[in-house]
Amino acid sequence: MLSAISHLCARLSARRFVGGKALIIGIVAFFAISPFAGPAENVSIPDLALVARDVSHRAIAVAHAAESNVAVSRASLWVAEANEYLVAHYPDLEKTYKHLHRHPELSYCETQTSAYLVKQLEGTGFKVTSNFGGGNGLVAVLRNGDGPTVLVRTEMDALPITEQTGLPYSSETKSRDREGNVVGIMHACGHDVHMTCWIGTAHTLAGMRDSWKGTLIFIAQPAEEIGCGADAMIREGLFTKFPKPDYCLALHCDPQSAAGTVTYTPGLAMANIDMVSIVVRGKGGHGAWPHMTVDPVVLSARLILDLQTLVSRENNPTDPLVLTVGTVHGGVKANVIPNEVTLQLTVRTTRDATRKRVLEGIERMAKGVAVSAKAPEPIVSINPNWHTPAVINDPKLLNKTVAILREGLGDSHVCQRPPMMGGEDFARFGREGIASTLLFLGTQAADKVALAEAGDDSVLPSLHSDKFAPVMEPTLKTGVQAMTLAVLNLVGKESTELTSRKTNGSTTARSKVR
Ligand SMILES: [Zn+2]
Ligand SMILES: [Zn+2]
Repeated sequence: MLSAISHLCARLSARRFVGGKALIIGIVAFFAISPFAGPAENVSIPDLALVARDVSHRAIAVAHAAESNVAVSRASLWVAEANEYLVAHYPDLEKTYKHLHRHPELSYCETQTSAYLVKQLEGTGFKVTSNFGGGNGLVAVLRNGDGPTVLVRTEMDALPITEQTGLPYSSETKSRDREGNVVGIMHACGHDVHMTCWIGTAHTLAGMRDSWKGTLIFIAQPAEEIGCGADAMIREGLFTKFPKPDYCLALHCDPQSAAGTVTYTPGLAMANIDMVSIVVRGKGGHGAWPHMTVDPVVLSARLILDLQTLVSRENNPTDPLVLTVGTVHGGVKANVIPNEVTLQLTVRTTRDATRKRVLEGIERMAKGVAVSAKAPEPIVSINPNWHTPAVINDPKLLNKTVAILREGLGDSHVCQRPPMMGGEDFARFGREGIASTLLFLGTQAADKVALAEAGDDSVLPSLHSDKFAPVMEPTLKTGVQAMTLAVLNLVGKESTELTSRKTNGSTTARSKVR
């Protein structure tokens, strides 16, 4: 075994690895023959992908393949490439994550975040264009010969939420929101995780550019949380001023799945989003003389309950629909009936026909409540700029991506999940006619996921919760591994497959393009 491993390491060193990489493989080979390598001796060939998840098992996987006269899959080697980066730089990635988590910025205010990402890409060879698309967007391009163009997207913005996780690296940042209120700010949607994985993937792919051909476009978009950033970048010329991608990829945290897993949804993955504002108008006056007024607080309360019947009574229960009244603002003093109350709603649908019916229903009910109380007509605003279309994963691209993820990460780490009623303006890239796929990244401790599956949902805070706290390891590592695999699977290949065969009892390795 020792000679086989040594020989393979020498071949690998000569063929693809230099300096520190060869040293890592050598160290790995040493540990591979130590007593600690015992369990891996029994690894069967179908388990090679799983074994190669761990860099310390890379040489073992290759050696087993050599002895068994089988090919080590491209996926296993690609994961090992990502792991080499992670072995050397994982502590830096954690630092990056904590920095981003501590310093969140609201939508369209991502100035420091954007500058930080530019710095993180220094030395990679990516050519970075800053201040693109709404002021803070980044477009980083790495041209590496003829081949497909692949776009990888991250988002940069955080939410007006005061963090309650109790983590030592919690955000203490405060700012003013768009209404001028002082609010805590938090990366409660995991965009800090996405940015960290984006940086790790960029470094990994840049470091192995002798193994692939094509163009990478790594973008960091502003203002995802308000559904505007992707559209702003497209309108500013993302696909005309830079190479138009053949494929678009993105990751998003999945708070219901275990860290170390990647989940995916074929076809429709996330919902249509619409935001609606309703100004319920009345006639103000003294709280002690309600009969002299038309009370918009009471009308609002009535309307909020009426609106729920759009979901519970007017909609087919098998057709997903969410209607949430997220804000109610009205009045300044207990004994003063105000002139008006403002409601803000989010509406989530998966079918265009349902979307149209519900938006019309909201307006009908708001007007109906006003008529019933002889109140002035309400002002219902459905701003088309606040609409985000549903995310629909390209079936061919998704199947191809899932296949390589299963091969590289192992079947049990790649799971299908149902569509969710959250939204993502990543959908805009697919609407431009580019094959696009959004993958989900598990973020929770496995024991909590098990508790939730047994019925205790309280242990898993949702996205946008002030207690949302992704587990750093292995979430960040899995994100880098998964995105590296997904990109390498799409760009042009150099000779990247290692096969092995036995010749008269001695083992040799050779590379082969497939
Ligand atoms: Zn979000
Ligand atoms: Zn998000």
